[in-house]
Amino acid sequence: MRTYGETLADDLREQCRDTWGVPVVDMYSAEEVGYIALQCPQNQHYHVQSENLLVEILDEQGRPCRAGEIGRVVISTLHNFATPIIRYEIGDYAEVGGVCPCGRGLPVIARIMGRVRNMLRLPDGNTRWPNFMLAKTHRDLPIAQIQIVQTALDSLELRAVPEHPLSEQERTRLIDYVRDWAGPQFKVGLRVVDAIPRGPGGKFEEFLSELPQ
Ligand SMILES: [Zn+2]
Repeated sequence: MRTYGETLADDLREQCRDTWGVPVVDMYSAEEVGYIALQCPQNQHYHVQSENLLVEILDEQGRPCRAGEIGRVVISTLHNFATPIIRYEIGDYAEVGGVCPCGRGLPVIARIMGRVRNMLRLPDGNTRWPNFMLAKTHRDLPIAQIQIVQTALDSLELRAVPEHPLSEQERTRLIDYVRDWAGPQFKVGLRVVDAIPRGPGGKFEEFLSELPQ
């Protein structure tokens, strides 16, 4: 199974393997620049397509991140002479990976995190990239779609489209799951909705922050 276009959650890989018995191969690409990085055939991380573009991952001071650090993705294309793209900040955040044991010398991106609006801000000023493993959580619940939204610095709202009305026990289970993950500094509410709209470009976002960026 090949995936592209949206940030791939770890539990989705697991779910695809369990359901269809096939591994997921993820691609990181963008309309403006084409393929950016492709998953290593032997590992879950990605190799930058350096033949075509230069990918920089920079911290808040504009310095290159080291392996294990997360920063802004900045791209320059090498062969697009008609519309040169030079140090274009594409809006994504990614984690730099270490040298790949597969032997390919291409730079490694360990994880693609998403946009700033997909980052959780903590009441103490720190930030965290959510990985709620929602696909796994609601697999045995009657839920068609689910999304977590940060509505205030100390509040999270779980939006769910149920297939039939949720029992009190199911509601509590969902809220407790998010509360356990996020920590006691957050108030967690559940809102049942008819549909969860997709974000820009038709992408579904598992976590969305409504705080001013
Ligand atoms: Zn590799």
